Amino acid sequence: MTAKAGSQAFDIGGGYDGTKYGTAGELNVTGGILNLSSSGRGTNATVPVFTNCTVSGSGARQYEGIYDANGKFTISAAALTTNPEAYECSETVTLVASFDVSRKNGITTPAPRGSVSFELDGEKIGTAPLTKTTVGANGYSIAYAELEWTVLEGEHTITAEYIPGVGDSYTSNDRVIYEVSVHEHIWGDDFTIDVAPDCITEGSKSIHCTLCDAKKDETVIPALGHEYSAEWTIEKEATCTEPGSKSHHCIRCNEKTDITEIPAAHSFGLWEEKTPPTCDTNGTSTRTCSVCGYSETKTVPMRHTVVEIPEVKATCTSTGLTAGEKCSVCGKTLKEQEVIPMIPHNYVTTIIPPTENSQGYSLHTCSVCGDNYKDHYTDYVGEAVPQIIIENKTAAAGETVTVNLSVKNNPGFNAASIKIDYDTTRLRLIGAELSEEFSNGTNVSYDNLPYLTFVRGSNIDSDTNMLTLTFEVLGAAVDGDAYITLLYEAGNISNIDEEDVNFKIIDGKITVIDYLPGDINGDGNVNTKDLTRLLKYINHEDVDCTEQALDVNGDGKVNTKDLTRLLKYINHEDVEIF
Ligand SMILES: [Zn+2]
Ligand SMILES: [Zn+2]
Ligand SMILES: [Zn+2]
Ligand SMILES: [Zn+2]
Ligand SMILES: [Zn+2]
Repeated sequence: MTAKAGSQAFDIGGGYDGTKYGTAGELNVTGGILNLSSSGRGTNATVPVFTNCTVSGSGARQYEGIYDANGKFTISAAALTTNPEAYECSETVTLVASFDVSRKNGITTPAPRGSVSFELDGEKIGTAPLTKTTVGANGYSIAYAELEWTVLEGEHTITAEYIPGVGDSYTSNDRVIYEVSVHEHIWGDDFTIDVAPDCITEGSKSIHCTLCDAKKDETVIPALGHEYSAEWTIEKEATCTEPGSKSHHCIRCNEKTDITEIPAAHSFGLWEEKTPPTCDTNGTSTRTCSVCGYSETKTVPMRHTVVEIPEVKATCTSTGLTAGEKCSVCGKTLKEQEVIPMIPHNYVTTIIPPTENSQGYSLHTCSVCGDNYKDHYTDYVGEAVPQIIIENKTAAAGETVTVNLSVKNNPGFNAASIKIDYDTTRLRLIGAELSEEFSNGTNVSYDNLPYLTFVRGSNIDSDTNMLTLTFEVLGAAVDGDAYITLLYEAGNISNIDEEDVNFKIIDGKITVIDYLPGDINGDGNVNTKDLTRLLKYINHEDVDCTEQALDVNGDGKVNTKDLTRLLKYINHEDVEIF
């Protein structure tokens, strides 16, 4: 049916337009029944009741909508959302169900008395009243119901449905559906760079969910700072006259640092000698820039032409010379040669064994030059060899010493001409005297020492002392053995029958010492204090002694025998001390 508004008798089409009642318009009612009040008016005081119909048209105003058999207005479910829209598992969100509750202009009169039932996968999780209203884009009033809900992991369906209340003017025949799909994030092990840093801007990184775009632990990555190359970048090459420049560039952003001038420089070739120097005049050299032709000259100092003078090796018989240098042009010596001392002989030792007629000895012969000497004499083989034996003595430098020469296995002789040979670096022969037996009736000359010649009218054939020599030990004599021997030419010892007599000469020596034998305490005297000092030494007391004097009897040991020997010596008994 269609009703036209305008007359007082039937003005239900003149509904409330939000400002006033009785606004003109067209009301369309499709199907159903319209029950009017007694006065036939359809106002908010005496409302019309629609059943089983759909009301529309410009005059329908707040009555526009669908009505059921009981005259209840059907509200329709509009949306089910969450606040906030994004959420994570286990967070608490607000489920917001919205319904289009009425007709135009936001009028919700009378108020809905029902509530909204929320279900999760078909199980009820709560109810909430419809509360605030707003006007939606279609001009309908929208009412909301809100329920707090803790988000469950997995895929779920939430529904919201309006359940009418007692005496409610509203009904509903649909529901809103909300699909939930949340998961527990599975966080990656490593940070993902979200924003890469550069030299001057910081970046960021975070741990990403491997299933979705969620992030956590967002962390600032500091700016990298410039990283300058070790290599120089040449901004501008230098020329002969203009300096250039160079710098170190950042390998990422080309920022520069260490901007440095490259000095202007010519590209000189090699120096060429224009005027050669001589031994006593300077020369000159010139070089030229290959780019601009500029040339410069320098002085080449005067110089000799050096040649080497070869080394001369030293030998065991001559000194050598070190290598030297001289100028081959002017002959000047530039490096003096120095004398290299002679090198020692290379002695090879041969042992010569003794015979009945000769001593044995060690013969040392230089394998290079043949120089030789003998030592380590050994005794004759056999007993009956005629011998002249020279005594061994010990004395200090500056002392005067007598040395006896005695005859052994004497075959008898009456004349001799001999030479006393001795170590002249330590000794001086100051006297010689034949023994009493030899001098008796003898013609002798002592005037040409070390030569000595004598002759007498008969043989002497006893083994006896023959000659006493007196030596001065030189003040500068160094420690050691000073040899004494006797030389004679064949035929210069003979008997009364003018036959040759040959003697083997047993060399003697004076051992030069730098201490006074018997002077144990080193006070320059030999007396009873030395006896006491030696007694203390042998008794292991801590006393100072002249070491070399301790072995008084010269047997290589220091013991009570040395004490006895020194006691006898001090007591003027005829004993020798060392
Ligand atoms: Zn995720
Ligand atoms: Zn940079
Ligand atoms: Zn140049
Ligand atoms: Zn020269
Ligand atoms: Zn030699």
